[in-house]
Amino acid sequence: MTKSLLISTTNFGKQAEMLALLKTEIGNLRLPQDLSLTLKITETGSTYTENAYLKATAFCKASGLPSLADDTGLEVNAIDGAPGLFSARFSPKPNASDADRRALLISKLLDTPRPWKARFVCAMVLALPDGSTFQSHGFCEGEIIPRERGNCGFGYDPIFLCKGTNLTMAELSMEEKNHISHRAKAAKAIIPFIRAAFN
Ligand code: IMP
Repeated sequence: MTKSLLISTTNFGKQAEMLALLKTEIGNLRLPQDLSLTLKITETGSTYTENAYLKATAFCKASGLPSLADDTGLEVNAIDGAPGLFSARFSPKPNASDADRRALLISKLLDTPRPWKARFVCAMVLALPDGSTFQSHGFCEGEIIPRERGNCGFGYDPIFLCKGTNLTMAELSMEEKNHISHRAKAAKAIIPFIRAAFN
């Protein structure tokens, strides 16, 4: 039987990107919803890698499958690297949306001089049923802009101008984002470990 790799995220934007990034490597990619897995993982780690580890190992244990998870943060220089590890929990509003988080970030930057230099950081962890784990990282440099642009992507993409492109991450197609993004770089770096585990 072909081995499956579980893409351990319930974020549909991440799912789409990771499926596209890995489909040529692994024929049998599975998503939590394919297995009716509804885990709620609290991100209690003190690093991106610790949080990715919590997600990857929890999904691996629950499914019995090799599991790949990421944890991502947006670090903005003008506000000391915030929201960083708290990028998902940045807004105090219950059930805050991506749009709420983007608006809050811009409101915190308005009194500071531009350019608002920033970078996405992505930590990825592969967890195998034998208990072994592997990790990788990817970064993407850019700046935050005060007005949203573009309809692709998710999260902070519409206000993140990618360095050297004059396009926001949300103005790139998924294929283009998957050439330059933090997640794409982390995925590329972890592929040798996936290959080794599946051979
Ligand atoms: P997490 O990695 O799922 O904890 O996501 C952290 C926060 O960053 C969430 O608000 C996501 O929407 C956002 N985020 C994660 N990856 C990306 C990305 O590739 N682009 C823009 N925002 C992202």
